[in-house]
This record gives sequence, C-alpha cells and structure tokens, in this order.
Amino acid sequence: MLYRIEGIVIRSMDYGEGNKIITLCTKSHGKVGVLVRGAKKVRSRHGAATQLFTFGEYVFFRGMGSIGTLNACEITEPNHTLREQLHLAAYASYVVELVDRALQDEESGGAMFDQLLAYMRAIREGKDAQVTTHIFEMKLCQAVGVAPSVDSCVVCGRTDELTGFGWRLGGAICSRCRPREHGRYVCSGNILKLMQVFIKTDLRRLGDITLKQETKLQLRDCMRGYMDTHIGVRCKSLQFLEQMEKYDLAPLPSMTEKEAEEQEGNGGD
Ligand SMILES: [Zn+2]
Repeated sequence: MLYRIEGIVIRSMDYGEGNKIITLCTKSHGKVGVLVRGAKKVRSRHGAATQLFTFGEYVFFRGMGSIGTLNACEITEPNHTLREQLHLAAYASYVVELVDRALQDEESGGAMFDQLLAYMRAIREGKDAQVTTHIFEMKLCQAVGVAPSVDSCVVCGRTDELTGFGWRLGGAICSRCRPREHGRYVCSGNILKLMQVFIKTDLRRLGDITLKQETKLQLRDCMRGYMDTHIGVRCKSLQFLEQMEKYDLAPLPSMTEKEAEEQEGNGGD
C-alpha cells in the first residue's frame, strides 16, 4: 500500500550498504519506520529527507507487516538551524530521542506530532530552548499519562497553601505535608507556578518566556528529577546536553556581558 504522510524525522540510522532507516513522527500513524535506499550516496536525491528534524511529506510503499520503502519526499521545513547550531541541536536531539523512546508505535503520535512541530519552530525562532524543552517534556508527560498533579497536594489532596513542588512525589505539596518530604526532592513555590503554567501551555501558542537564570537552574534540576522518576527513559543525547549546559550556563548566549553583570550584581533578582 502506498502512503503519503506528513512526518518529522526523529531518528535516522545507517542500514546496510548506503541505506538508511528513518523513524518518522506522524500525526495520523504515530511512529513510522521507513527504509531509504541509497540515502548515504553523495548524489542521493533522498539524502536531505533522512536528516534528523526534517519535516516533510513522505511517500512510501509498505506491504503487510513490513517496513516502508521511501518513494519520494517533499521537504516542508528542512530545519538546518537545528542541526547547525550546537545549542539548538543539543536540545532538539534530546527531544526527538525522548519522543522516539517514550512513545510506543501509534500511541499518542498525533498529539506529540503537533507539539513537536511547534517545538522545533519555537526554538528555531529564538524562544528560550531550555524552557521550551521543559514545556515539551511536560506535554510528553501529559500524553503518556504521567503529568504531575499541580492544583492539589499530591499527598493529602488539599487545594490551598500549596507551597512547593515535590518532583519525586509527582506534584504540588502543601505547607503541612512539605516537612515530611526530604528538602532535596522539593522545589519552591515559584517552580510550582511554572508547572501550573506549563501544563496549560500549548506550544503552538507559545508566548515569550523570560526567566531568571537562577529560576532556570532550579527548573532544570526539578524537571530532570521528575523525568527520571516518572518517565524513566535515560536518553543518550541527554549526556551531551548536560555537558553543554555545564559550559554554557554561565552567561547565556542571548545575554550581553553587561546584562549578565547586572544580573549578578542584583544577586539574581
Ligand atoms: Zn498536603
């Protein structure tokens, strides 16, 4: 059967002599594997179609129970920027690996397709890649049914006096229950507020996000703890991202030296 499907390349691996197998995230068919013959040849017309983050319309033939074979591809968004800028490549590689590993075939494909496409557009257009990535993580948690409880205490259920976010427990935590959870697993009320916003955010309608560097660090630790505990998929690309963050996090690339100095002078306020 011949398929004509819009998809985003979330994985691309070499296969045999000069071929590649790509995994597409699609809206209608979830995750789809497609064999691209001769993709590694210098003059292959399909080379670009197999690059990570490429979004296009893929035409492929697939028999019963077998992998598809690419016939043609019309690229809509090549997303060069996401491959060429190290900073963006690190975040986007993590996000596509997360989609690939956390979602089963066909499952939640549709919802994540829209969010993934919007994610790539957002970071390409200069939205804060780290924060946008955390919002995407939240969308993924929602899609697979492990979203945190953000409007009531995850321990006792009360909806008032929510003063922190317990990432290990998986949600908001009230002033009474908070002392019972070890401090290292609890983030501040500010982080809880961000979680409440993230859970309602649709990446297709993402506004501008500006967070203080200190908040971003807290947010990162909180989300990493949350993802490790509740999604439990350790992505290989996360290692690279963490390495990059280690060197990158001092002044942000978007911040001038003067702004960074001012921020330090204010003690992060
Ligand atoms: Zn409580």
